[in-house]
Amino acid sequence: MSRTALGHLGWRRPSGSHAPSGAQPNLADIIAARKRIRGMAALTPLRPSDAMSRHCGAPVYFKLETMQPTGAFKVRGAANHILSLSADQRRAGVITVSTGNHGRAVAYVACALAIRCVVCLSSLVPANKIAAIEALGAEVDVGGADQDAAMERAIARACAEGMTLVPPFDHPAVIAGQGTIGLEIAEDLLPVGTVIAPLSGGGLIGGIAAALKPIDPRIRVVAIASERCPAMLESLKAGWPVMVEERSSLADLLGGGIGLENAYSFPLVRDLVDEVWVVGEDATADAIRLAFIHERLVLEGAAATGIAALIQAPAGTFPGPIVVVVTGDNIDRRTWLAIINDGNNRA
Ligand SMILES: *Cc1c(COP(=O)(O)O)cnc(C)c1O
Repeated sequence: MSRTALGHLGWRRPSGSHAPSGAQPNLADIIAARKRIRGMAALTPLRPSDAMSRHCGAPVYFKLETMQPTGAFKVRGAANHILSLSADQRRAGVITVSTGNHGRAVAYVACALAIRCVVCLSSLVPANKIAAIEALGAEVDVGGADQDAAMERAIARACAEGMTLVPPFDHPAVIAGQGTIGLEIAEDLLPVGTVIAPLSGGGLIGGIAAALKPIDPRIRVVAIASERCPAMLESLKAGWPVMVEERSSLADLLGGGIGLENAYSFPLVRDLVDEVWVVGEDATADAIRLAFIHERLVLEGAAATGIAALIQAPAGTFPGPIVVVVTGDNIDRRTWLAIINDGNNRA
C-alpha cells in the first residue's frame, strides 16, 4: 500500500462546545429507535481488519453494514421512520426519493409491513439498483436529471395521493435510525478513538455523532466526502446549504444535494462532526480492491471511501481504536469486476 498525504482536508469544526439544538435527534431518540427497529434491521458486527490495523499502526475495525438485509445501513432509518407512523398513515402508504439504497430500504420495510410504497429515482441511478427496488414490490418512478428533481416529483405525489414522504436523510426519525450504528459501536468497543463514515446528505454521520458525542465527546467523528459531489462540504464552508453540480461517481451513493431547505442533518453535521475529508475516484477504486483482497468484502464506492481515507492518511493521523463504517455492498457487477481486474499488480 502506498502512503501519500490526503488530497486536502475539507473542513474542520471550529473548536468549542458541542451544542446540539432542541430540534435535532438526541441520544434518547436513538435509544428509542434501536428498540423500535429491532427485528427489521440487523445488529451488525465490528470486525477487526489486520491489514488496515498494520497500515494505521492502531486497531482498525469495520462496522459491517453490508450485513443488513438490504445490503446497506439505510434500513435503520427507514425502519425507524415507518414504524413510527400511525395506522392511518400506514394505510395511505409511503413515498420516497433515492439514489438507490434508501429506496431499497423503504421498499423493504414497507413491504415487510404490507404498506404501499412508491420510489422516485433520478436517471443517474444504476440499473441494478432500480431492478432491486422493483423486485422488493415497490412502484418505481424514474426520471429527472438529479435527486432534487426526483424530490420535487415525490413531494407533488405525496400531496396528491396522501402518502407519507420518507426523506433519505433530512428527517429526525431517519437520522435517529442511522444513529443506532453509533450506539452499537459504543456498546461493542469503548474506548473508541475515531469513527469514520461516508458523508452525503449527512443523516448517517449526523446520527452517529448524535449518539457518540454525548457518550464521549473525545471520540473523533470524521466524515468522508467524494470529491465529485461534496454538497455538504461546500455547505459547511459557506455556512448554509448550497447546491453543487452533480457528477456521476464511483461513490454514486454520495451524490445529490443536501436540500436548500435542510433543517436537521446540516446543523447536526456542522455542530457535532469534527472534520470532513475528501477522497477521489482512484483512491475509492483502490479501497474497493483492497477490501476484496485483504478482507474478502464486496463494497460499493460510497462504502469504500472511509477505507480510501485511511489508506491515504499517514499513520497516526487518527487516534485509535478506529472504526470505519462500511456502509453497503450494492455495486454493479460489471463495475466491480472492472475495478478488481484493473490493478491487481497495484494491491
Ligand atoms: C446513503 C449512503 C451513504 C451516505 O449517507 P448520508 O446519510 O446520505 O450521508 C453512504 N454509503 C451508502 C452505501 C449509502 O447508501
